[in-house]
Amino acid sequence: MTATAPTAVITGASSGIGAATARRLAAAGYRVVLTARRTERIEALAAELTAAGHAAVAYPLDVTDRAAVEAFAASLDAYPSVDVLVNNAGGALGADPVASADPQDWRTMYETNVLGTLHLTQTLLPALTAAGAATSGAGTVVIVSSTAGHGTYEGGGGYVAAKHGAHVIAETLRLELCGTPVRVIEVAPGMVKTEEFASTRFKGDLTRAAAVYAGVSEPLTADDVADTIEWAVTRPAHVNIDLLVVRPRAQASNYKVHRES
Ligand code: NDP
Repeated sequence: MTATAPTAVITGASSGIGAATARRLAAAGYRVVLTARRTERIEALAAELTAAGHAAVAYPLDVTDRAAVEAFAASLDAYPSVDVLVNNAGGALGADPVASADPQDWRTMYETNVLGTLHLTQTLLPALTAAGAATSGAGTVVIVSSTAGHGTYEGGGGYVAAKHGAHVIAETLRLELCGTPVRVIEVAPGMVKTEEFASTRFKGDLTRAAAVYAGVSEPLTADDVADTIEWAVTRPAHVNIDLLVVRPRAQASNYKVHRES
C-alpha cells in the first residue's frame, strides 16, 4: 500500500454487500474507509483488513444525519484523495400493501436509501471531482440501487419507491456531471442472500425472512455483487458503466423466481 493509494468510501460496510465490497476494493489496492452505524462491526472489519496488509479505517456514521455526514466529509481532508464513493447503505422495511403500510417505514427507507445517498454524494463531490481531475476522470460515484428501482411488485411499494429514487439520483447526476471528471455507476442487484437484508425487512421474523430464499438453489451472494462493483470501478477512467442489473440465474424478473420444492 503506497501513501498515494486511491481511497474508497463505502457506506453500510458493517454487513452484506458493503462489507464484501470493502474486502474487494481493499484487495484491489484501495485504502478503504468503512462507515456504518455499528462501530464494533466496522472496526472489526478494518482490523481484519489491516492485519491482511491493507489500509482500512472505520468511521461510525448514520447516513441520514446531515451534520454527521458533513463532519465525516471534512475528516477526509486529511487523505491525499477521495476517489470512489460507494453508496450502499440502505435496505427495505416491511412488505405491506400500500393500503396498510406504515408511513414511518416509508420515511426511514426514503431517508436511508435516497437522502443518505444525497448527503454523501453532495458532501464528497468536491473531493471526488478533485480526484477525478488528478486522474483524468477516475472520480467515481457508485449507487447500489436494486431491481426494485426498475420495477414494482405487490407489497414492495415503499422500498420500490425509495429505490426508484436512488435510480433517479444516478441518472440525473450522470447527466449533470457530464463534462466533469466524475463518473456515476448504478449497480442494481436482484435477489442477494445476505445475513441481514430480509431479517431487517421483516423486523426479526426469521421465518418470513427465510421464505424469501426458499427453494432458490443459488441466490446471489454479497461477494457476487461486490465483484460487479469492483469490476465497474476498476474500468479505465473514460469508461462509465451506467447500469449493471445483476440477478441470480434462477430469477428472471422480480416476479419469476425458480424454486425447487
Ligand atoms: P444488509 O442489511 O446486510 O446491509 C445494510 C447496510 O446498511 C448495513 O451495513 C447497515 O449498517 C447499513 N445501514 C442501514 N441504515 C443505515 C444508516 N441509517 N446509516 C448508515 N448505514 C446504514 O443488506 P445488504 O448488504 O443486502 O444490502 C446492501 C444494499 O444493497 C442496500 O442498499 C440494499 O437495499 C441493496 N440491495 C440488497 C438486495 C438483497 O437482496 N440483499 C437486493 C438489491 C439491493 P448499520 O446497521 O451498522 O448502520
